[in-house]
Amino acid sequence: MKSPGVFLVLTLLGLLGLRGWSKPLPTVLPPGAEQPVAPGYKDASALPTLEWNRSPAIHRVEYGSNGFIEVAHALILVPKEATVAKQLAFSLEAVKGAFARREKLHEVDVSVYAAETFDGFGGPPPLLTASVPKSRLREFASLGVDFERLWLSDNPAQFLPFPRPPISRRERWPVFEGEEGELQAQRRHQAASRPERATGLYFHGPSDRREAALTFDDSPHPLYEPLLLDSLRRAGVRATFFCIGRNSRVYPYFIRDMLQDGHELGNHTYHHVRLPGLKNDQVIQEILLTNQVLESILAMPVRLFRPPGGDYSNQTLQCARETGMTTVFWTDDPGDFDNPGDSVIEERLLENLRPGGIVLLHDNVEETLQVLPTFVRLAEREGYRLLPVGQMIEEDR
Ligand SMILES: [Zn+2]
Repeated sequence: MKSPGVFLVLTLLGLLGLRGWSKPLPTVLPPGAEQPVAPGYKDASALPTLEWNRSPAIHRVEYGSNGFIEVAHALILVPKEATVAKQLAFSLEAVKGAFARREKLHEVDVSVYAAETFDGFGGPPPLLTASVPKSRLREFASLGVDFERLWLSDNPAQFLPFPRPPISRRERWPVFEGEEGELQAQRRHQAASRPERATGLYFHGPSDRREAALTFDDSPHPLYEPLLLDSLRRAGVRATFFCIGRNSRVYPYFIRDMLQDGHELGNHTYHHVRLPGLKNDQVIQEILLTNQVLESILAMPVRLFRPPGGDYSNQTLQCARETGMTTVFWTDDPGDFDNPGDSVIEERLLENLRPGGIVLLHDNVEETLQVLPTFVRLAEREGYRLLPVGQMIEEDR
């Protein structure tokens, strides 16, 4: 067996004939330790919290804004033997308390975890989650576990442990792992043919149309998702969300919201793990489990896939192909998860906007929320149509 070399395809954008982004890469901060900010790099303490005299189980209540509405998230930690009734009672207390203390809140989301095993976003999943718009507070209070926007773990012990932790590195550049010959073949392949329908790869859209795809990775998130969906609704733009399977399972109502708003759902693995180096059956399981979760919520097939961290190898691509997925890359990553500042993100987005571009953003970044309306407005003023990547592929025949 030949010894595999590792090639960082930092020049991928150059290979595609696209302008790279010349600014130095910002320093990456360590991953946030707890919900709701993980698995990003944003410091959880940056979000304001609501404080009142409440049950100690209601550990932290944070809130954020997209400039139009505010949404809060309550992190609740209970003993693992706590009954569903008890979990529900704490949830209701948190939701009512938050609404009572902050008039402007549009929605309060809750995540209830077993305190003994709570280990942030990458740890065991919550026991119960709910998303309560202010207009539906009474309904939540009366329906309890039958509330439509509530998820209850059917079996608290049910947890798919994975030998590897979620990767802490976010999508930045597509990184190809393989031997030099394989890398050269990739380069030739990318340069020679487009669209990549036959091989299940999609690097960018048609360069002769003033359109760009808007994609968000790492969804769904219990505080930022409703803010982002609200922003997109106001902007009248549809996008593609690359969802993490385990997060989609426990926040299914956000997946339904995305579908209802006309967005497109893609697969971003079940555990947000680094795929090169995994065995084929593990990679396939990551993809299939996620499809299973999303398809059971959506009742429609999911066909787009994006590898976490942008890390991929020929083997990764082969597994994606075997499962019928099209692997989607990107042409433009403004590095939103590093929180470089609203104006920097905006500048990078506009500077890199190009026909056939695929814009990569993350769903849980407050700065992205602030910048999005301006970006959409300016892109449209320049004559760009922003659309989900699946639609771009469909029309790129
Ligand atoms: Zn990701």
